[in-house]
Amino acid sequence: MSDSLLKFMLGDGHVRGVAVRLHDSWQEMRRRRRHGAGVQELLGEMSAASVLLAGSLKFDGTLVLQIHGDGPLRLAVAECQPDFGLRATATSGAGDDDAPADAAADFTQLANPHGAGRCVITLDPRQPGQQPYQGIVALNDADGHALRDLSAVLRQYLDQSEQIPSWLMLAADQEHACGLLVQRMPDAGGQGSGEAARADEDFARAVHLASTLQRDELLGLEPQELLRRLFWEEQARVFTPPQPRFHCTCSKQRVTQMLRMLGREEVESVLAERGEVDVRCEFCGAGYAFDLVDAAQLFREPVDQPPGSSRSQ
Ligand SMILES: [Zn+2]
Repeated sequence: MSDSLLKFMLGDGHVRGVAVRLHDSWQEMRRRRRHGAGVQELLGEMSAASVLLAGSLKFDGTLVLQIHGDGPLRLAVAECQPDFGLRATATSGAGDDDAPADAAADFTQLANPHGAGRCVITLDPRQPGQQPYQGIVALNDADGHALRDLSAVLRQYLDQSEQIPSWLMLAADQEHACGLLVQRMPDAGGQGSGEAARADEDFARAVHLASTLQRDELLGLEPQELLRRLFWEEQARVFTPPQPRFHCTCSKQRVTQMLRMLGREEVESVLAERGEVDVRCEFCGAGYAFDLVDAAQLFREPVDQPPGSSRSQ
């Protein structure tokens, strides 16, 4: 069983959607970083959600979905690359890997017990020089009541920030992380036109059908089968984008840059104390060790002197 991702269109092209079911990548993420059950389930939903959002946007860059919690969960992050390479991690209070927030499995208890949690979605363009785009929403509804799960938060986000009527559902367990997104096409006719009215109708019908979906079905069915069951009358047109996979973007080069930013003094003080600087990637667990010799290289001046500007004249 591998990962599968489908994009689809319904009706006369008034409704589009994305369906994802992660297995291999989800297992890889679970193997590399262990979290409490509640955090783990949220990370699964976030991973599926990041694929749904990346799959629905025309955007060339990294999509970063973050939950900043105000309770046991401090920060949860899922990232999706344009080729659907995925990684995710979380930081909870008190001794991360040992006893993290198992008891509080409920989304609100975990991330929003005081009503100050928030969800941040960043689109980080691959082209250098372009500004990242960031959208932030609270984990509460317009009346200030805590939203009960990530699906509700993201529905609100898509309605408010993207202004695209959207419906989505997410679910994760120990085996799979899954999601279904249904959206009205943003450019389906001007307001008040007959075309727009038909688009509204088609969208309402798609949501009505999608709303019959049970959590067990979302987790248990392959996307193709899911679409067949939900939208068998709608003649879904299906597209197959690149399939998701686990992929961490960490590298020795990136860690090197990070240590340079940290500064010579800080790095030398760690070296003096421990004999080496050991940086562990919080996403994949890969270790990057720098001893005295490596550290001396780090701060050797200048690193990238252009040719012809040699100082030895
Ligand atoms: Zn990594």
